Amino acid sequence: MSTNPEARAWIRVRADALRHNFSRVRESVGPEAHIIPMVKADAYGLGMAETVRALESEGPWGYGVATAGEGLALRDLGVEDPVIVFCPVPEDSVEPALAAGLQLTVSSVESLDHVITVSGRMGTVPEVHVDVDTGMGRTGFDWRTASEWLPRVVEASRGDVRWVGCYTHLHSADEGEASVHDQWTRLQEILGLLTDPPAGLMIHVLNSAGSFRTPEYAAVAVRPGIFLYGGEIGPGQPVPEPVVSVHARVVHISDAVEGATLGYGATYTATGPERWATLSIGYGDGLPRALGNCGSALLGGVRTPIIGRISMDMTVVDITHVPGVGVGDVATLLGTEGQEVITVDDVAGLAGTISYEVLTGLTQRLPRMWMGLDGP
Ligand SMILES: *Cc1c(COP(=O)(O)O)cnc(C)c1O
Repeated sequence: MSTNPEARAWIRVRADALRHNFSRVRESVGPEAHIIPMVKADAYGLGMAETVRALESEGPWGYGVATAGEGLALRDLGVEDPVIVFCPVPEDSVEPALAAGLQLTVSSVESLDHVITVSGRMGTVPEVHVDVDTGMGRTGFDWRTASEWLPRVVEASRGDVRWVGCYTHLHSADEGEASVHDQWTRLQEILGLLTDPPAGLMIHVLNSAGSFRTPEYAAVAVRPGIFLYGGEIGPGQPVPEPVVSVHARVVHISDAVEGATLGYGATYTATGPERWATLSIGYGDGLPRALGNCGSALLGGVRTPIIGRISMDMTVVDITHVPGVGVGDVATLLGTEGQEVITVDDVAGLAGTISYEVLTGLTQRLPRMWMGLDGP
């Protein structure tokens, strides 16, 4: 027997909003560009299986993941579209990745050689994307030293591997266009050195922010992530539809007298008679602990301040001025109630982090309740 998933705390995910955000990317980059939704880290915490199911009708070219394990999980779900693994794959994961038909990214001559060795043993010809480092610095062949590595890549592409893609990753597209132009130009310099580029080589550069700021660089394909999931992409840019909301029940209500203290460290003290509501959600669910004494929750359409420190399993809000709250009522920690809204970027801002970390930090204790999964 299992409990009602909405008994304690849960996440609601709107498939229609996810599809809407995908179509906004499509409008921006045009009908020709391939769209590769990034579904790494369980689709930024929302659930990879459901995300893929929700997006199927939108016609993505394939999917991007970070690890071989995530790629294998997509295959287990029955996904037959191309899947690209964007982080360097540890040597002993290359074989299972190739056996599942995953496309690998290569960042060094050594990693290319290893892929060739393994695929040779398996009797397959692997599909690889060449990662060019144009300023991100964490992976990729250095754009400045093409003479050292490009001849080796070209040689490998004459039979040892199928060179299907070439890409770079933007470091500051959410902050403006200038760095995107620089990174694009650096990648073009490399491509310009190819006398006989492989037929159908897929160039892909743009993340979410780039897909809106500089759609002229959509080239062959784009790789959006955060915008699909409802995270903002910088000032002055289109705002995505909210996809995720987070809810928790009121489990206890207390009348505090002046001087009553609250929570670990007793960091909050009632300044007069107050009414407090305890919500069944805490940092063990991924609610950032930094929201203690500064965040808020919505109850009955009213914004109520989070008071005291957030515990692992519980959070307290001040409902002194909110009539009619009872045990069992549903609070919204992230999302909309009436005129009030708490966005994932609001939460991230208060917690001193980014929407990506808030979303991927929501733990498995919160059931993901999908709405509209199989279309309108
Ligand atoms: C995560 C990731 C993206 C998506 O970036 P967003 O900012 O979420 O749109 C694109 N490309 C690569 C290589 C990534 O790792």
